[in-house]
Amino acid sequence: MIRLYILLGGNLGDKQKVFSEAIALLNKQVGKITAYSAIYETEPWGFESVDYFWNQALEISTVLSPEEVLLQTQQIELHLGRTRKAAQYDSRIIDIDILFYGDQVISLDNLIVPHPRIQERKFVLVPLSEIASELMHPVFHKNIRQLLEECPDSLKVERVTDIPA
Ligand code: AMP
Repeated sequence: MIRLYILLGGNLGDKQKVFSEAIALLNKQVGKITAYSAIYETEPWGFESVDYFWNQALEISTVLSPEEVLLQTQQIELHLGRTRKAAQYDSRIIDIDILFYGDQVISLDNLIVPHPRIQERKFVLVPLSEIASELMHPVFHKNIRQLLEECPDSLKVERVTDIPA
């Protein structure tokens, strides 16, 4: 069993419905969800939009390989109506990022783990610190709490709700 950390993000459509469907599919196709952060409302990062994002961090216990996890998360994104646009940062129904896969460092053409921008983004670090503040980053050798303290990102990240039932 590997402990996997994932970030859900989305700023379009019925976010409550999309997040609960994503969680149900992850539970079924990737592994048992063992911890949930609260949901946070966050200011778009890298582009302008009036549609604020929702973000939530999840801890999952999985037996899948990293490539199998990516395949499943991409399939779930497509199933929930995600379409890929040319722009790197854009509005989306659902984005599922693989943050950590145990303490493994992975560098494949289509998969980089730990996710390369964790340390730059409060919308990742704030929810993640709720469920894994002591987790050590295997490249920077700092835990999530330290990365959050040092993160210069000033975009807004506000807790909106407790865990949906
Ligand atoms: P995005 O459009 O932001 O969801 O980016 C998805 C692309 O990033 C896909 O082509 C993935 O193969 C690639 N990718 C690389 N590393 C990761 C990661 N850690 N989690 C999710 N996608 C990743």
